[in-house]
Amino acid sequence: MRRESQRLESACVFCGSSDDADPQFLAAARTIGKGLADAGVKLVYGGGGVGLMGAVARAAHEANGDVLGIIPTFLVGKERALETVEHIIVDNMHERKMLMFQRSDSFIILPGGIGTLEEVVELLSWRRLDLHAKPVVFYNPRGFWEPLFKLFQHTVDERLTPPEFMQAWVSVEAAEDVVPALLGQGRERYPSEAAVGRRG
Ligand code: AMP
Repeated sequence: MRRESQRLESACVFCGSSDDADPQFLAAARTIGKGLADAGVKLVYGGGGVGLMGAVARAAHEANGDVLGIIPTFLVGKERALETVEHIIVDNMHERKMLMFQRSDSFIILPGGIGTLEEVVELLSWRRLDLHAKPVVFYNPRGFWEPLFKLFQHTVDERLTPPEFMQAWVSVEAAEDVVPALLGQGRERYPSEAAVGRRG
């Protein structure tokens, strides 16, 4: 399969929308938002102003970074859409995830709830199907994501997932290490990316 290495221009952040999250997670979201802005990498995110989402987006925006929020109409009020940054309002969750994928060169996963889990599992399942090779970095403070990694390993041990799937992401424990880890991976574009979301 032909691949082309390119500079990373954008990163999609999947993260929690809860304002009650550990203040360490909220502070880390701010560090990562600023880190993306300082590196000249555009932040693509779910468009809300709440929880870790709001924290990462405000920090990137305040550090003069490019930010694109993508939010479905029904969540504009609930997730308090950030109107101070570029945003696109879509009809539903599927459109949101598709556009977030298409507009992003790479992905950062912060602690989150069921919504974040859903987004991560879809992203990695597309990777498993070789539909993309976009870099994925998990911010994994105090082992937050270990139960998920264990579950993935369990599916490998049961011969339901190929062992090389476990190489599909990088995990770091310090917020400061997230953007350098992302940039260190570069960007490889698979021709099959165009198949994601194609109709018919
Ligand atoms: P949570 O981790 O549950 O706080 O959710 C984080 C973000 O994921 C929020 O912006 C949710 O609206 C979003 N989300 C939840 N489920 C989905 C889904 N099925 N598709 C796209 N986004 C989702």
